[in-house]
Amino acid sequence: MAKGYFASLPESERIEMARKGAIAHWRQKAEQGKTTLWDRFHSKLRKTDGCWIWTGSTVRGYGCIRSEGKIAYAHRVSYELFKGAVAAGLYVCHHCDVRLCVNPEHLFVGTANDNSQDAKRKGRTRNNPARGECSPHAKLTDITVRELRKLYSEGMTQADLSRRFGLSGSAIRNAATGRTWAHVQ
Ligand SMILES: [Zn+2]
Repeated sequence: MAKGYFASLPESERIEMARKGAIAHWRQKAEQGKTTLWDRFHSKLRKTDGCWIWTGSTVRGYGCIRSEGKIAYAHRVSYELFKGAVAAGLYVCHHCDVRLCVNPEHLFVGTANDNSQDAKRKGRTRNNPARGECSPHAKLTDITVRELRKLYSEGMTQADLSRRFGLSGSAIRNAATGRTWAHVQ
């Protein structure tokens, strides 16, 4: 590239070139210290007999992980790592109803309709209120309540728990102290 060529370009092109240069720079840096998605995924979960509980960051009670520069649901990434790609527009749903679970054996792919049919089949509809995970729009399950209480006993604050599980402070407080979910030991 001849000297002065860069300076002779219109500003918009110079900005674009600088932007591409910066992207290449950061991409190279990321590759040098590269940890694979597989490694990062496995460093952020705790396996139990059944569910694999996500210990990384969460949104609305679902695990999240950075994948290809975007924030993705950890359970969806799990499905893709173990079972294969999921077409856009399809959902990865939980057989176990544990939002924090990323065990590929507990996941299935469905449409939005399957998702609501599954919820109906499991009794999670407005007409069938019940305690615990069968109540409408429940975000907690026996397993997540155990996880919540464990973190609470280890000193995680109610504000952090509230963010982590996507629940109000009072819902967290009640579940953590046993006012609700008393049947879970
Ligand atoms: Zn599970």
